[in-house]
Amino acid sequence: GATIGILGGGQLGRMLALAAARLGLKCHVYDPDTGAPAAQVAAAHTHAGYDDLDALRGFAAAVDVATYEFENIPTAALDAIEAQVPIRPGRQALAVSQDRLAEKTWLSGLGLTVAPFAAVDDAAGMEAAVARIGAPSILKTRRFGYDGKGQARLHAADDAAAAWAAMNGAPSVLEGFVDFEREISVIGARAADGQIACFDPGENVHRNGILHTTTVPARVPRALATDAVLLAGRILNALDYVGVIGVELFVTPSGLVVNEIAPRVHNSGHWTQNGCLIDQFEQHVRAVAGWPLGDGSRHSDVVMTNLIGDEVFAQLGVADAGLHLYGKAEARPGRKMGHLNRIAPRA
Ligand code: ATP
Ligand code: MG
Ligand code: MG
Repeated sequence: GATIGILGGGQLGRMLALAAARLGLKCHVYDPDTGAPAAQVAAAHTHAGYDDLDALRGFAAAVDVATYEFENIPTAALDAIEAQVPIRPGRQALAVSQDRLAEKTWLSGLGLTVAPFAAVDDAAGMEAAVARIGAPSILKTRRFGYDGKGQARLHAADDAAAAWAAMNGAPSVLEGFVDFEREISVIGARAADGQIACFDPGENVHRNGILHTTTVPARVPRALATDAVLLAGRILNALDYVGVIGVELFVTPSGLVVNEIAPRVHNSGHWTQNGCLIDQFEQHVRAVAGWPLGDGSRHSDVVMTNLIGDEVFAQLGVADAGLHLYGKAEARPGRKMGHLNRIAPRA
């Protein structure tokens, strides 16, 4: 069987490596920290950073295919790996999702609806963007944002200067605030031969900018759930994608608005571990290894709850729900320590 290389050793990498092990496949993990969650359950390659090209080449030499658990991998690192082994999902998916401006431009080019947006590179650009987009709106750094970090809300146009100051000069994008009814996401998968399978859309609730719960089924009409799945399929095909993708959507009275895409397994897909025979991690491993996709149909209703910081301690004794812990030593505030999948028979 193929040996899979995973760039990044966090909880997503860990759960990918565990799924691969169950299929008899080996994983190598590339992370600076030998104690990282994924490095605890796979062969670990430590390095001095993503500009450590010797370490990258050694990692690539040990694997048959490379994948990743986060999207902010520098181009030079990707080039070094791709000189030796294929990277799945491919480079276009990374380019599009690394940069919110590129992402929104590409998604609208595909005919999908995104929030109104404008690039902001300096104070003058901020003024022009606010004149066009107005308020309420959200200023976000183009790169490196996650869990709501690198964002500032504008309640009124007056907030523009303070919001721009909060970006510390980073190239940004101003987005119109979408007055959504709810947030859903589709976890989709595409195999090397183009086969597509999507999990049921989940409904997401955030707390302090961090995903709090995902509930399946999402409370949306069947037709809208189908639209969401078809939309994810269009994105997968347009990117000639191989692997699992997360597509975050806003449900509005005038239809679905794409918030962002993540070219990897996704926190809002963790419910699949206890709600489906084959979960998002196995689906990703199957796709990346060149196998056919599995049956991801949902057998249960699920509420997935993230355990953030010291919330995890109160849940250690839970025995009537699927408990997934990431092996992180310190329960720092805001840190994802694990999650809980509470299931019920499908209604
Ligand atoms: P993630 O951890 O999902 O990668 P992120 O830091 O990339 O998060 P976003 O997904 O862009 O951030 O935004 C976080 C949350 O903020 C969204 O899930 C949504 O609740 C809210 N939000 C973001 N953009 C908008 C918008 N344009 N209109 C309304 N709400 C928004
Ligand atoms: Mg994001
Ligand atoms: Mg998001």
